[in-house]
Amino acid sequence: MISNAHLAEPFKIKMVEPLKKILKEERITAIKRAGYNPFLLKSDEVYIDLLTDSGTGAMSDKQWSGLMLGDESYAGSRNYYSLAKSVQSVFGYKQVIPTHQGRGAEQILFPQLIKKGEFVLGNMHFDTTKAHIELNGGIAKNFVIKEAFDTQTPHPFKGNFDVPKMDAFIREKGADNIAFILITVTCNSAGGQPVSMANIKEVSKCAKKYGIRVFFDSARYAENAYFIKQREDDYKGVSIPQIIKEMFSYGDGTTVSAKKDGLVNIGGLLCFKDDETLYKRCQAMCVVMEGFPTYGGLAGRDMEALAQGLKEGIDEEYLKYRINQVAYLGERLSEAGVPVQLPIGGHAVFVDAAKMLPHIPKEQFPAHALANELYIQSGVRAVEIGSLLLGRDPQTNKQQESPMELLRLTIPRRVYTYNHMDFVADALIKINRLAKNIKGVEFTYEPEILRHFTARFKLAE
Ligand SMILES: *Cc1c(COP(=O)(O)O)cnc(C)c1O
Repeated sequence: MISNAHLAEPFKIKMVEPLKKILKEERITAIKRAGYNPFLLKSDEVYIDLLTDSGTGAMSDKQWSGLMLGDESYAGSRNYYSLAKSVQSVFGYKQVIPTHQGRGAEQILFPQLIKKGEFVLGNMHFDTTKAHIELNGGIAKNFVIKEAFDTQTPHPFKGNFDVPKMDAFIREKGADNIAFILITVTCNSAGGQPVSMANIKEVSKCAKKYGIRVFFDSARYAENAYFIKQREDDYKGVSIPQIIKEMFSYGDGTTVSAKKDGLVNIGGLLCFKDDETLYKRCQAMCVVMEGFPTYGGLAGRDMEALAQGLKEGIDEEYLKYRINQVAYLGERLSEAGVPVQLPIGGHAVFVDAAKMLPHIPKEQFPAHALANELYIQSGVRAVEIGSLLLGRDPQTNKQQESPMELLRLTIPRRVYTYNHMDFVADALIKINRLAKNIKGVEFTYEPEILRHFTARFKLAE
C-alpha cells in the first residue's frame, strides 16, 4: 500500500480547461458510430480521457515560458544545445539526436542494428517498437519474468527480465543472431511495472558476456527510478537523479519517448553513451527521416520545453505525487473487489478483464468490451492491452495468445485531480457488479498492421 489518502498536489493551477460530459444516449450513439472502438471517438465526446499518458500531460509555467525562447534556426539552434545539456545531466549520455517522438528514434536506430532474421530481446516490447523491429526483418522476443502474468500476486519488480531464460536463448540461437537487447523502463505492456537495478545490472552482464549491445526504451525512466528508490534496499538513500544516471550507465544508448516522463506534448530522443560511428550514421538517417540533426522533427521552442521538462520529471516531490495518485485509483478499485495488476504500476492502473469477464472468450476481446462499457456508462475512455493489441503472428497470420487481457486506465501527468480518480473508481466498481451482462466484440473491419487503432467491431451475439 502506498497511500489511501489524497496527497496534496505539488503545484497550483494557473489555467483551466473546461470538461463537458455528454448524455448517456449521446455516448451510445457515439460509440456505435466509432465502430465500438474508443480510438475512433472524438475527444469532445469523452469526459475523462485515460486513453494514454503519452503527450497528454500539462506543462509548467517554466516550460510555457521556454516556448517563447524558441530559436527556430534550421541548424545549430540554441535550444538544441540546451536540450543536449539537459540530456547529459539526466541520462549521462553525450550524443543526442532529437526526434519528433519515440518511434522517430526507433525508425532511425533499428535499421542500423537489425539484419533480417535477427532477434531483439526485451522484457516486453512496446507495440510500435515491436512493429519497427518486424518492419526491419527482426524478431521481437520477450523475456519478462513469469510473475508479470499473475496480476493478483504482488512482486516489486514485475518488469524484470528472466535472465537465465534469456541467456539460454542466446546460447541456443548464437550471439551472432541477436541484434541487441532492449530494456523497457518501466515495462509498459506488463502494467507499467518497474525493472530493478539489480536486474538491469544482470542483463548488462549477460550482454557483455556475449558482446551484445544494450539499449533502453525509455519512456518512464523517472517512474522506474522512483520505484527502485522505494523498493530496492540498496537505493533507499540514493537520490532519483543518481539512480537514473546509474540505470543508464549499464546501457549503450536509448530511444526516448519524451511524451511521458519528459513532460512534453510532443518530442523524442535518440541518445548514445559513446558510439561515434553509430551516432554519425543515425544523424545521417535523421536528416532523411526526421530533419536536420539539431532539430530532428521538433521546433526550437519544443526542444526548450523538453529541456525544462526533463528536469521537472525527475523531481522527487513530483514523482511522489504522481505515483501516489495512480496508486490511489488502483487501491480504491482493488479494495472494492475489481481485479487489478498488483502492485499498481507507475503510469496506469491495469484492470484484469479476463478475471472480471470470464464469460467473454479471448477472441472476443474482454478488455476491449470493458472499455466500451466504461465509456457508455461514464464517459471515461480507457484502452485495451491484450489480444487485440497483440495481433496476429506475422508468419502464420494466427491470432497470438496474449498472456493477459488488461484494460489500461492511463493517468495523464499533472492533469486530473483525486476527484476525477474517484469518479473513475465509482464507475468501474458499479460496472464490476453487473459484469456478467457485458458482451464481447467481433471485427467488422480488421486492418493488417497495428489493427487496434482503426479496427471496427460489432457486439457479439
Ligand atoms: C510511448 C512509447 C514508445 C513510443 O514512443 P512515441 O513517443 O509514442 O512514439 C516506445 N516505447 C514505450 C515503452 C512507450 O511507452
